[in-house]
Amino acid sequence: MAIPKNALIVGGGVFGLSTALSLSRRHPETQITLLEASPTIPNPHGSSVDSSRIVRADYANPAYTKLAAAAIDLWRNTEWGNEGRYTQNGLALVYPDGRPIAKDYTMKSYDNVKQLDEKNVELLPTKSDVLRVAPAYGKEFNVAGGYVNWGSGWSDAEASVRYAKKLLDEEGKVAFKTGEVEKLLFEDHRDQSKVTGVALTNGNTITADLVILATGAWTAKLVDLRGRAVSTGQALAYIRISDEEQKRLEHMPTVLNFATGIFIIPPRNNLLKIARHAYGYQNPKTVPVPGGNGSMQISLPENGVPVPPEGQETFRSALRQFLPSFAERPFVNTRVCWYTDTPKADFIVTPHPTFNGLFLATGGSGHAYKFFPILGDKVVDALEGTLEADLRELWKWPEAKSKDEFEGTEDGSRSGTKGLLLMEELAKMQKNRQGSVL
Ligand SMILES: Cc1cc2nc3c(=O)[nH]c(=O)nc-3n(C[C@H](O)[C@H](O)[C@H](O)COP(=O)(O)OP(=O)(O)OC[C@H]3O[C@@H](n4cnc5c(N)ncnc54)[C@H](O)[C@@H]3O)c2cc1C
Repeated sequence: MAIPKNALIVGGGVFGLSTALSLSRRHPETQITLLEASPTIPNPHGSSVDSSRIVRADYANPAYTKLAAAAIDLWRNTEWGNEGRYTQNGLALVYPDGRPIAKDYTMKSYDNVKQLDEKNVELLPTKSDVLRVAPAYGKEFNVAGGYVNWGSGWSDAEASVRYAKKLLDEEGKVAFKTGEVEKLLFEDHRDQSKVTGVALTNGNTITADLVILATGAWTAKLVDLRGRAVSTGQALAYIRISDEEQKRLEHMPTVLNFATGIFIIPPRNNLLKIARHAYGYQNPKTVPVPGGNGSMQISLPENGVPVPPEGQETFRSALRQFLPSFAERPFVNTRVCWYTDTPKADFIVTPHPTFNGLFLATGGSGHAYKFFPILGDKVVDALEGTLEADLRELWKWPEAKSKDEFEGTEDGSRSGTKGLLLMEELAKMQKNRQGSVL
């Protein structure tokens, strides 16, 4: 595709910012505007913004392993990883007894990373091997084996979003605007084949030859993604720890247990984060069908809500196993953070199949952050039509699945209960509170 004279990128998370960086560098003649609904970038409610994100090449699919290895090279060896934005502490992928799917993902991932970086990867065939590399974890830890990749690490996600924004400000080639897109604009209301820009909730419009939606978990409100992507809320909690505890835990590898989805990233600034990579909560809302007639029910993000009791209790029981001395400590904060989940966790980086002038860069499915330094280049490759064949195949416009076929992302890495409804689970919190008053 020829890159047009002006382009509008909607969304200031990792997809939008990295696309803005690559597009403005590779196509300096194009006028680029980046529109973000949040008054600030980093957006505290965006999926890209948090204290930490795992940076791993540990994937069952070799295409992601290869891409992640290229991104990790940039985290390690360029400005991207400086000033504490990247820490290479290792990642232990572990599985308990009796969970063949988790073991299968772990061992496929082991084979992939072993080929890539043999000297950094160590098989942990027994529980005592796992406890040897993660000694702070308790003997109660229900684990049968796994492996550790000392070449993986984690990134300070808020700091890196701020860094990308700073680069864009310094380079001065992208105009930033604040505003929320209400809907896409079409050349002809009846025909709706050519997108000409966006209408904002404040009544203004912005026209563009090319609109790139990098709107994460909110995309489903602007384009009909039913059966193709669903927004799921994922649980996060933070615990305050002492200086001594910080010292004890900070050099441990991140431990990711695919059977429960629970992971604990080493703490920074006396804050320990526990998180769950799961099927997540859905939050159904009725909204108009974008570019169509009638209404539809889709899951959309809810900002500023706590993790429901079900999630908090899962964290407590995981802590009782992993790190029993923290199991009863209060959470200083909890957060529901939103994935844009596709059926097989593949991103959606492709022109819209019927709306000319519209391109999607989304579908992060809980694992896009690590690609931040390289993702925009791949998006621009896709815009130009030069994206390598394996990624083009993975990131194409997905076939719509029926409700039965798409109950949750199935890439072998997810766990937990399917079909949890956020508001129903939160209502239990109120009930518990009422119960305790009585
Ligand atoms: C809890 C959690 C843990 C994760 N852990 C990891 C990890 O360990 N490793 C990893 O690699 N990845 C991880 N991820 C995934 C990764 O963070 C996401 O895939 C990635 O950040 C998604 O980026 P995005 O740009 O699509 O979304 P976002 O960062 O949410 O950006 C989208 C932006 O679009 C804006 N927007 C939306 N709608 C509109 C509109 N109508 N008008 C204007 N602006 C709009 C939003 O305000 C938002 O700022 C995790 C995600 C979560 C939620």
